[in-house]
Amino acid sequence: MTDVEWEESMTTEATTILPAVTRFLQRQHGLLIDGAWVPAQTGATFATLNPASGDALCEVAAGDAADVDAAVAAARRAFPGWSEMMPAARERLLLRFAELMEEHRAELAQLETLDNGKPLRVAFNVEVNVAIGQMRYYAGWPSKLTGETYAVSSPGYHVYSRREPLGVCAAITPWNYSLVMAAQKIGPALAAGNTLVLKPAEQTPLTALRLGELALEAGIPRGVFNVVTGFGATAGAALTRHPGVNKVAFTGSTEVGKDIWRAAAGTLKHVSLELGGKSPLIIFDDVEDVEAAATAALWAIFANSGQNCVAGSRLFVHQAIRQPLLDALVAKTRQLRVGPGLEEGVDLGPLISQAQLERVLGYVRRGQQQGAELITGGERLGGRLASGYFVAPTIFDRVEERADIAVQEIFGPVLSVFSFASEDEVVHRANASPFGLAAGVWTNHVGRAHRMAAALRAGVVWINTYDWFDPAVPFGGIGESGQGRELGRQVMEMYTELKSVWVRIA
Ligand code: NAP
Ligand code: MG
Repeated sequence: MTDVEWEESMTTEATTILPAVTRFLQRQHGLLIDGAWVPAQTGATFATLNPASGDALCEVAAGDAADVDAAVAAARRAFPGWSEMMPAARERLLLRFAELMEEHRAELAQLETLDNGKPLRVAFNVEVNVAIGQMRYYAGWPSKLTGETYAVSSPGYHVYSRREPLGVCAAITPWNYSLVMAAQKIGPALAAGNTLVLKPAEQTPLTALRLGELALEAGIPRGVFNVVTGFGATAGAALTRHPGVNKVAFTGSTEVGKDIWRAAAGTLKHVSLELGGKSPLIIFDDVEDVEAAATAALWAIFANSGQNCVAGSRLFVHQAIRQPLLDALVAKTRQLRVGPGLEEGVDLGPLISQAQLERVLGYVRRGQQQGAELITGGERLGGRLASGYFVAPTIFDRVEERADIAVQEIFGPVLSVFSFASEDEVVHRANASPFGLAAGVWTNHVGRAHRMAAALRAGVVWINTYDWFDPAVPFGGIGESGQGRELGRQVMEMYTELKSVWVRIA
């Protein structure tokens, strides 16, 4: 299936709010600690908003350091039982969890669309279905973890290794793909025998709370999976400093990632960081189908309204096809339907918040001040969309390579276009960034495709496609885009410790 057919095949479920979602929103939500829903010790709560309207959706508990203490203590108590449980029993519980996510998928998708703003079909296909696939994949891992035996040169020894869980892990997640980012951490952490405290983003706590309910319903023992909603500076920071936490798995901005690494150094925790990017998408003049390449460039930047860590925000087009490609891309961009995620046929939802809206519009202004040519978009959308945080998909041409919009992660629907003449030149320019998360190459030349894959400095390179993931394929960044890998077999190594055992046998 091509990317285009895949986009078109996405289905939308009925957009009337499900009764279960209405009931969920009417409840006041506590923290999940030791298998029970409890208020924050201070009693504080905060509202999560619908970014399509700016209206409050519901109140959730604002946990802080004292609640983190309680959650970590519960996770610590649950650790021996969970880590010593037979692998097949852990697998059954995780599979049951995945099944319940599937049974409640329509509800999860609506909650994500309401909380985050993304179109419902995207919430379905790119959040809920992906998260379920991940949970199933990790559910199979408890029985597949192995150590090794070693051919040592000392006579009379049998030496082997054991893969052991780390203990209590903390997961701190962002708002852009809340459900997937949570599943990507819950799955491997629990499969490896660790217990977990999840701190979801303040803007999108709802699906994490629903996951907590489903985990309890699945029979995952109390204290194994805890959810502390709250703010980064309080609940998040407390997790990164806590001596009872053995690992912090973080996805978010590079700036906060650096703070977390510094905070975690105090107790030398394991840390994995999935951070930001400024990813290049490179289109050569040998592509067979300029229209298809333009469609790829369109979704590479505008998927999830550009709030995507792997957004192809720097588009390099070979000078020979620059004009036809740009014409096709601009035409497609102007056809995108921007609107509330629950509306039928909407391609792009709002940005997550007022702050993000102002940040993105600030970049648009600086782009113009620094001499780039605004060829489409660039403004907040008004009329019936005026109360939400909607921005028109935006393309800048003739961008100076040191301009802010060319260098910094905008995390919004803003594309910078550059043209190039040769392969060597474009490799050099594409790699001239402290980030190294993803890169895309469109070419019809098989040798060039592999040369580019080797030369680009990125954790993932997509050839003649963009933005594909699978639970079996490791994902992560180079340089300021992160440390460590998620997904695949490699993530199981990131949630375990390797112990060597020497046995004298003669
Ligand atoms: P963020 O501001 O870094 O926040 C991420 C999470 O960290 C939130 O839960 C946040 O809490 C928490 N946090 C903030 N300060 C903290 C602190 N001092 N200690 C502990 N936790 C803290 O990022 P964001 O704005 O939510 O997400 C956007 C960023 O995520 C972008 O840069 C994007 O590229 C990156 N991202 C990367 C990937 C990847 O896989 N590489 C995937 C998705 C997104 P609050 O909610 O209270 O702020
Ligand atoms: Mg929200």
